[in-house]
Amino acid sequence: MRVLVTGGAGLIGSHAVRALQRAGFEPVVLDNLVFGHRRIVEQVLGVPLVVAQLDDRQQLDRLLAGQHPDAPGASVGAVLHFAAFAYVGESVQDPARYYRNNVAGSLTLLEALIDPRHQRSAPGAAAGPMPLVFSSTCATYGIPAADQIPIRETTPQNPINPYGRSKWMIEQLLADFHLAYGLPATILRYFNAAGADPASDLDEDHTPETHLIPLVLEALAGRRSSICIYGSDYPTPDGTCIRDYIHVCDLADAHVLALQQLQRHGGLHHYNLGTGRGHSVLDVITTARRVTGLELQIDQAPRRPGDPPVLVASAEKAAAELGWQPRFPDLATTIEHAWRWCQRSCTRV
Ligand code: UDP
Repeated sequence: MRVLVTGGAGLIGSHAVRALQRAGFEPVVLDNLVFGHRRIVEQVLGVPLVVAQLDDRQQLDRLLAGQHPDAPGASVGAVLHFAAFAYVGESVQDPARYYRNNVAGSLTLLEALIDPRHQRSAPGAAAGPMPLVFSSTCATYGIPAADQIPIRETTPQNPINPYGRSKWMIEQLLADFHLAYGLPATILRYFNAAGADPASDLDEDHTPETHLIPLVLEALAGRRSSICIYGSDYPTPDGTCIRDYIHVCDLADAHVLALQQLQRHGGLHHYNLGTGRGHSVLDVITTARRVTGLELQIDQAPRRPGDPPVLVASAEKAAAELGWQPRFPDLATTIEHAWRWCQRSCTRV
């Protein structure tokens, strides 16, 4: 079956494309290439790429029907929806850009999926809109109370920035579209995506890089002068923030399982995706020093506005209902895979 992967040229989307290929699906990518990489899709993964904005309905229609000149072939039977802007700070500075791209773009996609021209009528498949798996985030939970850790899918959602709110709004769109039009959908709320394919061929430079693990590795590799710890006075054992770092290959696997579940049973589902283990900023730095055998300079800075002290998932629901178990739950393995990529990209610079 042909599966449209929006944002498939990005970090998590490209790992999902590979997981789909391994599971026997035929992915096709739509990406505006603002942050994605053509080389990964066309040369590394060998998948058709349509370069377009998500809210370009005409291009979407042609792609879904299998009539796009850049991706001729079968019509699309399911969607994995990753395409989004994902910089929290930027979303505060320029919320219009985030609501336009993330929310309005998703609405255009969902409208296309309920268009009778794109609904499923194949023998054996349930009639109605094709299934969609949506890439959401733990940022939709905002700053959970201490007694809400580990975070379950039923933990109240209270996003605190436009990025988190844009993802939360799309979750609401999906719930309404499921109820009104029977759209089968699964919402996957990622915790901190990290690591890279062990083959280290699916990642490209992220500019600007804001995430802790790549920044620490770049400092260890000498590409940055130091790593800055944002806040050492949090109510945690070592005073630094605790996060749940989940390997991108494990996230990718969860998308395939979610898609297969939707194909079998339809419905509307929500799952947290994390390891269930929390690691502080200092844990990450210590583990990265051990993995690489290198040293780095550490600077201290005030807290970053909007950073919750602790975000750790309960991923029991995904385990019970999807049969999902992270293959790489250890922080050291995740960091080692990210380091392999960092070394490759360092030699390329
Ligand atoms: N962090 C840090 N220094 C950095 C980048 C991040 O101390 O240069 C901290 C950040 O405050 C948070 C954790 O590392 O507590 C993870 O941040 P990241 O941006 O990777 O992910 P987030 O949890 O914000 O989605």
